[in-house]
Parts: sequence; C-alpha cells; structure tokens
Amino acid sequence: MQNAALAALGLGEEWSYEAIEVAPDGFEARVRAMPGEGFAGANVTVPHKGGALAVADTLSEVVREIGAANTLVFESGEIRAENTDAGGLLNALPAPLAGKRALVLGAGGAARAVVWALVREGAKVKVWNRTKLRSRNLCEELGGEPIAAPDQATYELLVNSTAVGLGGEDPFAELPLAADGFAPGQTVVDLVYGSEPSRLLGAAEASGATVVDGIEVLVQQGALSLRIWTGRDAPLDAMRAAARA
Ligand code: NAP
Repeated sequence: MQNAALAALGLGEEWSYEAIEVAPDGFEARVRAMPGEGFAGANVTVPHKGGALAVADTLSEVVREIGAANTLVFESGEIRAENTDAGGLLNALPAPLAGKRALVLGAGGAARAVVWALVREGAKVKVWNRTKLRSRNLCEELGGEPIAAPDQATYELLVNSTAVGLGGEDPFAELPLAADGFAPGQTVVDLVYGSEPSRLLGAAEASGATVVDGIEVLVQQGALSLRIWTGRDAPLDAMRAAARA
C-alpha cells in the first residue's frame, strides 16, 4: 500500500517502505539504528506500541492523550511518536459526529484511539468490553461511559474495535450484537480486516446500514503517516487498490 503510494507520487526511486521484524528485546536498538540507515520514519504495530512510546524523544499531543503511537518520525536527530489511528478512523467516517450516539466494542489499544477520536468530535460514546474492568478504566482516562448490555438499535455509529473476527470467531456469539439488529441510518465499522469479508459488516449491509471496513481505516491511517513522512498528500485510490489486492 505504501509502496504503491510512493510510486503514484513519483517517489518510488528515492523512497521505499519495507517490513522489519524484530523481537521486543531488540526493538529499541533497531529503531535507534534506523535514522543512520536513511529511514525517515516507521510504522509500529503489535507488540511494539508500548516500546514506541518508550523510545521516542518527543510525543505528539495526541500520543500523550491516547497513550499509544503507531508512527515514528526521525527528524533533526530526534525520534518523534505520532498516532494516525485516531485521525485515520475519523477520515473514514461520515461527518459530523457531534451529538451522535456511538457504541465502541473493545477496550484494547485500537479502542483507545477510537474512543479518544469520537469523544473529541463530540459524539456520545458508550464502551462495551468483555472484561468490564478494562472498559471502566478506559472511560475514566479518555471519556465515554462503560455499558454492560447495549441496545444495538439505539446507536447511530457502532465500531468493532475488538479482535473478534480475526480468528474466524462468530461476532454474534462473542459480541452483544444480533445479525438482524442493524438498521438503515446506522454506520457500522469493523476494524478487523482479513482476506474474507467481515460477517459483522455483511449482516449490517444486508440490513441497509452504511458500512466501513478495516481496510478503509488502515488506508486512512497509512495516508496520514505517509503525509507526515513525505509532506505529500496521499494518493488514496492507489493505496486502496493496493491494500485490497
Ligand atoms: P488488543 O489491545 O489485544 O485488544 C483486543 C480487544 O479484543 C480487547 O478489547 C479484548 O477484550 C477483545 N477481544 C478479544 N477476543 C475477544 C472475544 N472472543 N470476545 C470479546 N472480546 C474479545 O488489540 P487491538 O490492538 O486493540 O486490536 C483489536 C483489533 O483491531 C485487531 O483485530 C486489529 O487487527 C484491529 N486493528 C485494525 C486497525 C485498522 O487500521 N483497521 C488498526 C488497529 C487495530 P478483553 O479486554 O476482554 O480481552
């Protein structure tokens, strides 16, 4: 996706994006070596999101508030941590969100960015999580209200930010949602993406709801990261085509 974007921008000769696999105990040394190797930055994913905060010299305000980073920038001899998950989600959603009733499922790292973004936009956010202590703690830190038994029909926006569906789990067995409980006028987002279409979004779409899949959110967060590193607006269609391929 990023290499397709760089090629579409005519930067394919000078820039490249590559996967680097590293164990947690080698993370800091690997990152510190990267500016010297010519890297402008990095995306960071599980299990290194905590490590990314620790290695950074400066944190953006969003990173400080959410407590998670997915993007590093190597600039002027410093490592800066940024979070584009929150902005990427917002760019994938129909606006405006102020006053909208939103249900966020999950209380892990992805849910933190989702709740922060929706609360900041003025949505009325409820948070359901399998482990209740985690949703309670998340809401105390970031806003929103924990809920044990949400009424699916009352939300205009529903966001699955749990990992349910990643390993083929049945969302309607694991989450407090019914396959026939969606309605037109609702927007349903599933952050989980894979080679198969999401069962959650399939049911939502069949009921006439608007759906946003995890690939669109992935593209949007990648587009913001690309802009931070290169200063160029991301070619979204090239990124979408590459991500979907
Ligand atoms: P995480 O920190 O490990 O959190 C996992 C969450 O899923 C927790 O809330 C956990 O609940 C819940 N969960 C796991 N299995 C469950 C089950 N069987 N039933 C109910 N809840 C369950 O993971 P994360 O980083 O937040 O990521 C969550 C998902 O979002 C992943 O699938 C990831 O790929 C996806 N994601 C997508 C994007 C994107 O750009 N599209 C970006 C970030 C993440 P407990 O607290 O009860 O364990």
